[in-house]
Amino acid sequence: MHGSSDNIKRRGLMLVISAPSGAGKTTLSKLLIENDQHLRASISVTTRKKRPGEVDGKDYHFVDTAKFKQMVKDNAFMEYAEIFGNFYGTPKDAVEKFLEVGEDVVFDIDWQGHRRLVATTREDVTSVFILPPSKQELYKRLKLRHHDEEGVAAFRQERANDEISHWHEYDYVIINKGLNESFNKLLSILRAERLKKNRRTGLPAFIRDLLKQEV
Ligand code: 5GP
Repeated sequence: MHGSSDNIKRRGLMLVISAPSGAGKTTLSKLLIENDQHLRASISVTTRKKRPGEVDGKDYHFVDTAKFKQMVKDNAFMEYAEIFGNFYGTPKDAVEKFLEVGEDVVFDIDWQGHRRLVATTREDVTSVFILPPSKQELYKRLKLRHHDEEGVAAFRQERANDEISHWHEYDYVIINKGLNESFNKLLSILRAERLKKNRRTGLPAFIRDLLKQEV
């Protein structure tokens, strides 16, 4: 319930993971969520077309532009951005509820979204930037993913440098040479961040009690 093994109540954190397309970010955040019971995925809303294998409500909430614009008007997003000609937004609704009960939320968003979240909720955000070991590896993975969308892949390769140029805005950087190694690094970050005193809202009471104890 509290997300730490010592039962001290804590506030959840917002784990933002960004990377150029093809660096392994989506695979890594899915692995994290599958393996840690206190992690929830923030499911973004997007106007881009569903790719084969993607599930509405799981990978994204797929909507049309009119619906997206209405949600913007309704102030339904923590942040939103236009990327590759499509809109992407982080819905507000569930996040605060999770944080309050000590559940962490993972955000697979770009540098624009990260900037916005840092501007509004710095204390809650821990961010990780994932880099590919080389351009060649990145392009190989992009081509694999977009074998039926060559044009899109080429366009995204151009965008990779732009995304990479924002690496220094993040708290941590992982060079993704292997899934296992990167996954373990992410877990270490998460475990350390969960112990940060400012998030551990139950600590003052615990310490008051500790100081009162006499032996
Ligand atoms: P894709 O279309 O490949 O799933 O995602 C394209 C880019 O949009 C990725 O860099 C992804 O992290 C980013 N993205 C996905 N959802 C959001 C969101 O809600 N907000 C922002 N700012 N970026 C997002």
